[in-house]
Amino acid sequence: MEIIRQQWENIKDIIHNEYDITDIAFKIWVRPLQYLKCENNVVTILIPGGEPEMLDYLKKNYTRFFQEVISDMLQDSYNVEFSLEHKQESAGIASTASTPVDKDLQDSLRSANLNPKYHFENFVVGNNRMAHSVCLHVAEAPGKEETNPLFIHGGSGLGKTHLMTAIGHYIIENTDLKVVYVTSEEFMNEVIESIRNGNTTTMSRFREKYRNIDVLLIDDIQFIIGKSATQEEFFNTFNALINNGKQIVITSDKHPAHIKDLNERMRTRFTGGMTLEMELPNDETRIAILEEFAKNFDYKVPKEIVTYIASHIRSNVRELEGAYKQVYANGKMEQEAGRELDLDKAKEILKDTISSDNPSLITPSLILRGVSEYYGIDPDDITSKKRNAEIVLPRQIFMYLCRNMTDITLKGIAALLDKKDHSTVLHGVNKISDEIKINSDLRESIEAVKNRIRTY
Ligand code: ADP
Ligand code: MG
Repeated sequence: MEIIRQQWENIKDIIHNEYDITDIAFKIWVRPLQYLKCENNVVTILIPGGEPEMLDYLKKNYTRFFQEVISDMLQDSYNVEFSLEHKQESAGIASTASTPVDKDLQDSLRSANLNPKYHFENFVVGNNRMAHSVCLHVAEAPGKEETNPLFIHGGSGLGKTHLMTAIGHYIIENTDLKVVYVTSEEFMNEVIESIRNGNTTTMSRFREKYRNIDVLLIDDIQFIIGKSATQEEFFNTFNALINNGKQIVITSDKHPAHIKDLNERMRTRFTGGMTLEMELPNDETRIAILEEFAKNFDYKVPKEIVTYIASHIRSNVRELEGAYKQVYANGKMEQEAGRELDLDKAKEILKDTISSDNPSLITPSLILRGVSEYYGIDPDDITSKKRNAEIVLPRQIFMYLCRNMTDITLKGIAALLDKKDHSTVLHGVNKISDEIKINSDLRESIEAVKNRIRTY
């Protein structure tokens, strides 16, 4: 396929841009790759001077990117294989004067197992200022007691993996520290594998791997909770690292206080550093995220459609981006046919996506339900003018959560509570915001209410 050969550099550039690969990852992994051949819709890519681990890494992380870009370019379905340099096959290939690659950096990136897409530069801070600045702080100074472990929790698709990975990239690019990213499922598989092998060497190799690192990033810890052997092994790893001042970053769908079956000593350990909650992105942030995301594409979805998406998909950035991609694909086709995608067509395209997101659309009435169920009081009492002590606190929590989980204004909240002006609401919101900084029981209750609301 001559066209692939001709377009080869272009294909790599598209991958660089469309998949948001960091410049360093691009330089190390993608730029040196050479086109070898294409037979029966299978494209073989050569890894010049590659080693077997590079092959594994590229296969795992880049196959899809090449497949998608090549298939898209040639309007047909292509598979992609990587191959290590092979004398016969590579004969005749002009070795492009590839830039010398920093071997150490390459090794560190490979063994760290980080998703090349996620870094600080493409994380939109928006209303997640706190999470962003703490993560940046950890990246700049890993292992500090006050942020070790760093425990990041929050709903699915809110950017936990993105931020955690960004920490990893930052550390690798700026220090010689050894970073390892692992999902808790991968960790579990490794534990099971070493137990199954039943010999002490595999177990000690496993332990050596995890204890000789400086930064451990473990994603979605909830999957190993309650799996006793894995949990125990993780606990030992955790202690060994923390006791040596090594940084640990954990993500989870819940705050440690609300993870069922987590034993007390682990709960205490998990909350011993800093616990961060990812906020739902507010209106402005969702639009900013889509604008950032749009930079990856050559066709821009019209602004009113972006606003429509951002105002309907509120609880999950992954779904937000998914919706954009759906509309993008159609918009680009329309554009090629000389037409412009309009809002009605976009609504039609998105009707399943948007309606499936509706249940998680957080509204004041869901918050009212969550608060009243949690405190076992009548929702009408919360919105009434009663002043009994057992109602005042839940009412303030209701105000606080409306303010934090929805885009409703203070005036809007006041109206829901049948109040003429919003000063009581402002007071209630501020009171709870201040109180949770010092009162961990209250913080946990609010956490529990939020989690309950998210399940509606
Ligand atoms: P989680 O791990 O919390 O489920 P991810 O980190 O996988 O979520 O994020 C889901 C998707 O949304 C990713 O593609 C990520 O890049 C994107 N994303 C989430 N939050 C942001 C943000 N603030 N800025 C840019 N992209 C974001
Ligand atoms: Mg994740």
